[in-house]
Amino acid sequence: MTKLDLFFDPTKCFIGGRWVAPIGHELLPVENPSTGETIGEIARGQAADIDAAVAAAREALAGAWGKTPAFERGRILTRMSQAVLARVDDLARIEAMDVGKPLKQARADAVALARYLEFYGGACDKIMGETIPYLDGYTVYTLREPHGVTGHIIPWNYPMQIIGRSVTAALAMGNAAVLKPAEEACLTAIAFAKIAEEAGLPAGALNVVPGLGEEAGAALTAHPGVNHISFTGSLAVGELIQRAAAKNVIPVTLELGGKSPQLVFEDADLDRALPFLVNAGIQNAGQTCSASSRILVQRSIHDQVLERMAERYRALRVGPAIDDLDVGPLVSGRQQEIVGGFLGDLGGGEIAARGEVVSGAPGGGHYLAPALVSGVRPDDRLAQDEIFGPVQVVIPFDDEAEAVAIANGTEFGLVAGVWSRDGGRTMRVAKAIRTGQVFLNNYGAGGGVELPFGGVGKSGHGREKGFEALYGFSVLKTVAAWHG
Ligand code: NAP
Ligand code: MG
Repeated sequence: MTKLDLFFDPTKCFIGGRWVAPIGHELLPVENPSTGETIGEIARGQAADIDAAVAAAREALAGAWGKTPAFERGRILTRMSQAVLARVDDLARIEAMDVGKPLKQARADAVALARYLEFYGGACDKIMGETIPYLDGYTVYTLREPHGVTGHIIPWNYPMQIIGRSVTAALAMGNAAVLKPAEEACLTAIAFAKIAEEAGLPAGALNVVPGLGEEAGAALTAHPGVNHISFTGSLAVGELIQRAAAKNVIPVTLELGGKSPQLVFEDADLDRALPFLVNAGIQNAGQTCSASSRILVQRSIHDQVLERMAERYRALRVGPAIDDLDVGPLVSGRQQEIVGGFLGDLGGGEIAARGEVVSGAPGGGHYLAPALVSGVRPDDRLAQDEIFGPVQVVIPFDDEAEAVAIANGTEFGLVAGVWSRDGGRTMRVAKAIRTGQVFLNNYGAGGGVELPFGGVGKSGHGREKGFEALYGFSVLKTVAAWHG
C-alpha cells in the first residue's frame, strides 16, 4: 500500500470545530485510480453525523461566527488563502493520489482555491444594500443577510475548485456551511477543514461530513435545519436534490452537466484555437463539467481542423497522475466502463485518432486513451449525452445559422466557445447561444474566479463564482421605516 502522508485525520468528521469519529464508526476505502490500490480510509458519515453538523452550524450562527463582522470574516478567509498557498504541493500530491489528476492540474486547483479565498475574503465587507426613494415620510433600505445553514454537496472531479466557488462564498456572506464531499474525493475537503481550523475560523462555521451520497448526502438535502443547498454533480442526482429542497421550500443552486461546443468558423485563427480546442476536451481526462466535448467546424476547413486535432491527439500521453503526463486515469473503474461503453457504440462515427497509454502504466489503473471522433451527426448519442471522459466529436456545419442551431441542439447549456476573426459575428453568435458562459476566441479564460458561472436548461440554475455567488448565498431584506 502506497503511503499517504497527511496533515489531518481522514477517518474523522469535522463538526463544531472538533474532529470526531462518525457516529456509526464505519470507514470507506480510498482508492488511488492510477494504480487501483487502496491507499487509506475515510469516515463514512451518516444521517446522525449530518444532524450533529447542522446543529453545530446553527450554534455557530447564534454564537461567535454569527457575531463576526464582515471585515473579520474577510481576514479569516485571507489567512486561509495564505495557508492553502503554503500547502499547495501537499494538496496537489494528495489530490493526484485520490482522484488521479496529473500533478500540474491538481496544483492549479489548489492555487484556484487560494484565489477564491482571496477574492471572497476581499469581497466580504463590500457587499452592500441600497436605499430606495419611496413615499414622503418613509426611509427604505435593503439588507443582505446570510441564508443561515448552507449545505454543499460536491462531485469528485474538482473538489478544491468547487469548495472555492461554493463554500468560501457562503462563508464570506456569513452563512455556516455543512460540506458533504464526494466519496471518491474527500481528502482535500478534509484538508480544507484542517486549514480552516488552523486559520482560526470559529467553531461550527464549517463542518465537513464525508460519506456516501445516498446516506450523508440525502440526509443533508432533506434536513429541515438547512436553509440553502448548493449542489454540483450529475443531472440525475440534481433532480433528486431539487425535489428534496422543494419539500423544505428552500432555494437550491444546481450546477449540473454539459455538452459544451466550440464553434470554429473558416476565418478563425487556427494556430491560436488548436490548443484550446483539444485541451478543453482532455483536461482532467475530460471529467470536467465545462469540457468542450463538441467541436463544430465550418465545412470548408473541417478536414484541416480534424487532421490538426488528430495530430495533437496522437501525441497525448496517458499515465499515472504522479508522473504528470498530459492525461491521468479516470477516477474509477465505473467511470472507465461508462466512457468505454460510449466508444464501443459509435453510431455512424469513427475514431479519427487516439492518444496513447504509456507502457509502464500500472495494470490496476483506470486508463483510457483519449479519442477524437468524426462523422457523428448532431443528434447521435455521442453528440448529445455527457460522456465525462476524454472524448471529443467533430461535426461540420455550413453557415452561422446552422452552427448556432447545432450548438443549441442539446438539453444542456453551460459553456460555449466561438472562434472567428469577424468581431460582429462573434458577438452575434454569443447572443444567440443559450448557455451560461460564452468565450470569444478563447475557452475557459483560465478558470475565472471572478466570472459568474452556471447553466441554463438541464445544466442547472443559479450562479457561482464572482460577486454573483455572494448574491446567491444571501437573502435580500427590505426595511421600510415610517418616520413622518
Ligand atoms: P453525482 O453522482 O451526481 O455526485 C455528486 C455528489 O452528489 C456526490 O457528493 C455524491 O455523493 C452526491 N450524491 C449522490 N447521490 C446522492 C443523493 N441521493 N442525495 C444527495 N447527494 C447525493 O456526480 P459525479 O458523478 O460525482 O460528478 C459528475 C457530474 O457532475 C457530471 O455530470 C458533471 O457534469 C457534473 N459537474 C458539474 C459541474 C458544474 O459546475 N456544472 C462541475 C463539476 C461536475 P457520492 O459520490 O459520495 O455518492
Ligand atoms: Mg480516490
